[in-house]
Amino acid sequence: MIYGTDYHVHTIYSDGKREPETYIEAALKLGLREIGFSDHLNPAGGPPDWCMPHDRLPQYAEHVLRLKRDHKDIAVRLGLEIDYLPGTEGVTDRIINSFPFDYIVGSVHYLGDETVDLGPEFYIGKDIDLIYENYFNLVCEAASTGFFDIMGHPDLVRIHRYRPVADITHLYSMMASAFEIHDVAFELNTNGRNKPLRDFYPDSHYLHLFAEHGVPVTVNSDAHFPERVGQFFSEGYDLLKRAGYREMAVFSGRERFMIPLQGR
Ligand SMILES: [Zn+2]
Ligand SMILES: [Zn+2]
Repeated sequence: MIYGTDYHVHTIYSDGKREPETYIEAALKLGLREIGFSDHLNPAGGPPDWCMPHDRLPQYAEHVLRLKRDHKDIAVRLGLEIDYLPGTEGVTDRIINSFPFDYIVGSVHYLGDETVDLGPEFYIGKDIDLIYENYFNLVCEAASTGFFDIMGHPDLVRIHRYRPVADITHLYSMMASAFEIHDVAFELNTNGRNKPLRDFYPDSHYLHLFAEHGVPVTVNSDAHFPERVGQFFSEGYDLLKRAGYREMAVFSGRERFMIPLQGR
């Protein structure tokens, strides 16, 4: 029996399009065994059109916890996708300890005051090699904080297809090594396929580095509507197997367990 999980979905509590219930229905239809909510929260507040206002967090957590209690047919997990923003550690620390989360996804969307993912404008006229270096360094710094269980879309900076000139294998090596040292998992995020990038995060050419460092992995959709729950997962599992993975991580109460990798 295949044990599938999807730990990264967005509902109306952040910038997702539908109520949490609809994602559970979609997950059940696919035969997933776990569905985890990870609505997006920015410790500095952030634009309300894509970040959960902090005062909605109790309502969100109680909603997901109620669904968790009500469902015997699927494990419902309470997660959160939190921005890593240096200088807001106190807020993040308070938030992650305020509810019984099953896992916390740590994501870098911001370099300075600007987001790397909203539009290609961010990249125009800039030194792309330097942007990549800064982005990878910030993700490694995020991994070192101990706040996060899963590093979200670790090379999101690829989203608009601006590529560095230099070979960047060393950046992926540095990242895999940082994840290993700080004992965090990362996600193979399939949503990049729906973006200008048309590919998963992280770049599959470097997945073997994460496998060699023994970094635990999970496959996530980053779905913003229920139709995308579990999207492209069999392809994701196959890529991980080819990179040398035999296990994947599951989470409960911020503890990590390893189970055999799914797929054919
Ligand atoms: Zn994200
Ligand atoms: Zn997300």
